[in-house]
Amino acid sequence: MQDLTNHMETAALQTLDAAHHMHPFTTQTDLAARGARVITGGNGIWLRDSEGAQILDAMAGLWCVNIGYGRSELADVAARQMRELPYYNTFFMTTTVPALQLAAKLAELAPGDLNHVFFAGSGSEANDTNLRMVRTYWAEKGKPAKQTIISRWNAYHGSSVGSGSLGGMKGMHAQGGMPIPGIAHIDQPDWWSEGGDMSPDDFGLYCARQLEAKIDELGEDSIAAFIAEPVQGAGGVIVPPETYWPEISRICKEREILLVADEVICGFGRTGAWFGSQTMGLTPDIMTIAKGLSSGYQPIGGSIVSDEIAAVIGATEFNHGYTYSGHPVAAAVALENLRILEEEAIVQRVAEDTGPYLQQQFEALADHPMVGEARIVGMMGSLALTPDKTRRAKFAADAGTVGYMVRERCFANNLIMRHVGDRMIISPPLVITRAEIDELITRARRSLDEGMAAVKEAGLFTAA
Ligand SMILES: *Cc1c(COP(=O)(O)O)cnc(C)c1O
Repeated sequence: MQDLTNHMETAALQTLDAAHHMHPFTTQTDLAARGARVITGGNGIWLRDSEGAQILDAMAGLWCVNIGYGRSELADVAARQMRELPYYNTFFMTTTVPALQLAAKLAELAPGDLNHVFFAGSGSEANDTNLRMVRTYWAEKGKPAKQTIISRWNAYHGSSVGSGSLGGMKGMHAQGGMPIPGIAHIDQPDWWSEGGDMSPDDFGLYCARQLEAKIDELGEDSIAAFIAEPVQGAGGVIVPPETYWPEISRICKEREILLVADEVICGFGRTGAWFGSQTMGLTPDIMTIAKGLSSGYQPIGGSIVSDEIAAVIGATEFNHGYTYSGHPVAAAVALENLRILEEEAIVQRVAEDTGPYLQQQFEALADHPMVGEARIVGMMGSLALTPDKTRRAKFAADAGTVGYMVRERCFANNLIMRHVGDRMIISPPLVITRAEIDELITRARRSLDEGMAAVKEAGLFTAA
């Protein structure tokens, strides 16, 4: 085996990668033909690749590196914890200091009576926990028929069989026998794409009332919970109309169902508050957390649950858990991440300074001839691409063709901005400065200009 260092030739690394490494959400043959970009280092909002390029990461990795790359405090904490106690489990009446401290800290940060944490290794695992927990909760309450969970099309809740079924990604459901039974989906509140002739406010109410209609259709005594992201992330940063969450909250209050807020992206400052539920004004019974919990420095996730749920679940043995639930190194790193977020007032900065500044700059991109709308909450935003913004028209080409072409220009301009269909999305590290925001916007605008030129040249700048 060769010595694999960052100094190996890029082509050799790419060949080895394509030969043996199966990548998530990737067509492996395309990857082999093109070669993966090899990321070798990072600092702040910047990544470095094996060719020495400096790349502005406007996605914070996968929505997770909230405090930015290169914070050695987290490395130090991890090393210290590994020397002291690299691993012990939290089964069988044992605990570790980092796990219990992190649970207590999360109880302090979380709103309302969300005071209890069940740890997992990822967001997917945490949502699998939630699926079993809400059903177990109702069974323990003497209502075992309350089993169905209502979710939304185009939601993303993870990639395991359970969490992928909770999600509403049709491309995922098409592979491997998902969704599992007992999950129902309603429409997402995506006014730009699906709102038709309705006003955004009317459309928000229309989508929310689908929850009520679904509960009536299936029977309230069969529904356990509704799960949703406060602001959809992987679905394309779909910011719901203002009427949506108040109406959902009304329905959840009137009906006997639990509300699970998937905060995996929205949590830990992304929306300008500690949790997206606070920004969007909802009161969940359970929150799913992962990603920004550790800023991605260690894999860790969890479920923060209410006093009531914890009391009911706690009265019997919950036959569920992961080897790495409450992993001491991951928990210690998460604690250090939360300390930095707090002490450097990063969430507050997003709320009061850099967030509003990014919003102003980002929304100005809506004057670009190919951008129909620019929506942003805190530091998650999206641009809807269109050949005709007066009609919110879709492109005649297959969905995603144009988005991909713009993404290619971002790639060439050393800007990581992803596309979801024909939407361009950003979710930068929360430590991004005003000057770096200016640089992000400059590169985004250049990429849009070049992308539009390429789209026109290919004869694709036409409405469906
Ligand atoms: C990423 C994500 C998940 C899944 O988290 P993993 O750590 O990838 O398993 C769940 N929910 C939301 C909203 C996410 O964005």
